[in-house]
Amino acid sequence: MLRKGEYHAFTADGAGYLYLVPSAAVFRLNETSNAVLEALAEGDAEPNALANGLSTRFPLADVRDAVEDLLNAHAIKVVDLPRPLAVPAPGAPKARKRIPLTTLVLNVTSKCNLACTYCYEYGEDKIVEASTKPRFMDEATARQSVDFMFAEAGESKKVHLTFFGGETLMNFKVLKSSLAYAKARAAELGKDVEPSLTTNATLLREEIIDWIVANDVGVTVSMDGDKEKQDRFRVFNDGQGSYDMMLPNVKMLIERHKTKPVGARVTLTKQNLDVMSIYNHLRNDIGFWEVGFAPVTTSWQRDYAIQDDGFHLMLTQFQQLAGEWLEHTLAGKHHGFTNVRSTLQEIHKGMSKAYPCGAGLGLMGVATDGDVALCHRFAGSDTHKLGTVFDGVDHAHQDAFFDAHHIDAKTDCAKCWARPICAGGCYHEAHTRYGSTEQPNLHYCDWIRTWTDTCLQVYGTLAERNPELLQRYLA
Ligand code: SF4
Ligand code: SF4
Repeated sequence: MLRKGEYHAFTADGAGYLYLVPSAAVFRLNETSNAVLEALAEGDAEPNALANGLSTRFPLADVRDAVEDLLNAHAIKVVDLPRPLAVPAPGAPKARKRIPLTTLVLNVTSKCNLACTYCYEYGEDKIVEASTKPRFMDEATARQSVDFMFAEAGESKKVHLTFFGGETLMNFKVLKSSLAYAKARAAELGKDVEPSLTTNATLLREEIIDWIVANDVGVTVSMDGDKEKQDRFRVFNDGQGSYDMMLPNVKMLIERHKTKPVGARVTLTKQNLDVMSIYNHLRNDIGFWEVGFAPVTTSWQRDYAIQDDGFHLMLTQFQQLAGEWLEHTLAGKHHGFTNVRSTLQEIHKGMSKAYPCGAGLGLMGVATDGDVALCHRFAGSDTHKLGTVFDGVDHAHQDAFFDAHHIDAKTDCAKCWARPICAGGCYHEAHTRYGSTEQPNLHYCDWIRTWTDTCLQVYGTLAERNPELLQRYLA
């Protein structure tokens, strides 16, 4: 018997498509394959009966070809064959492939010159008691982190070294020495190191910009919009807003740094959800090359937590920007909405995730004392420690974490078509919302499914109108 498989159907530019689960492949339907799926939506069917039933509308050979294509794509399946049981030999050790490290995030300081209300490092939902760790990473620890990075990178040719904080630029001395060391080591090892940093830009000055330009450092500026929006939460300790101080610095950076696009990263809150105007200000008035948005990570009861109507408002504007991105791309022009591009890249790569992100696998965070954590957001948390840069990764602990966090362990996600993209969502958000990294982020399922559907439609429309653009913009 034939049975419909697991997929999400969508249309793009008038054509029917399937997003196949769990393979994450995108499959274009023709009229015959669509009819086969419609017939199977009524219930299981015996292959000959199915072909005969459709033979009044399509040549028999076409129906058979369509069935074969759909079977090969796992959009439909044969259900009456006994399945061979793949039982491992008793006691056989589970083979686990080590994922090489490709990105190391150094939290060079936990100190910040701002006091943003919603900050996950200092704010009401912080998970790390900063007082137990040094506030600044010293040069020896940073160098050891670089050695750790190359050791864990294995055969990978390229490694990304990302500086983070606190306010990253408060430890500029260590940025300079550790990047110089990383470049020298990379040259000895025949590898490439790609540096980047995140900053609030209030401390940017000429000397730092010279270093950024000379070292081709990618920069992301945390910024929430125009003066009113920025100054609502991004404030100094005395309550003063940071917009006036950062703006000239950001302009100078964009003006001088031409080899790497400068991006903005916006935190959306209940009070700051005017995505379109934020995008226009940051991209068109200020000149950021890309603008990415993330809803604030916090528990429900906070005053700035986004509630259901806020998520809806955010979604409709994301969809509007995705439409603009499509128009620009079809016209061969750049559009800087990061969120749509990154989801489309995941779709294009056919990523079917067992885990929501690379945290703890290809990406790790290092705390100021050299403790290694899942990612920068967990850096310094003893509960989420995976090892140290001095002693390496505790692989037994890492394996146990990933056994517990595999998508197959998230029973709530078992029937969700969006799981190849979402895989339960960010561990940090789950920890903040539900008190456990193991919990899937069920508060945003509708959001993520609608957003993924929007991105699939954009992807399909590009495939219909100019498939060459998929390669050019998303590969
Ligand atoms: S968290 Fe929700 S959207 Fe994400 S995979 Fe699980 S069920 Fe699907
Ligand atoms: S756990 Fe969350 S914050 Fe950390 S890398 Fe993954 S998605 Fe990002």
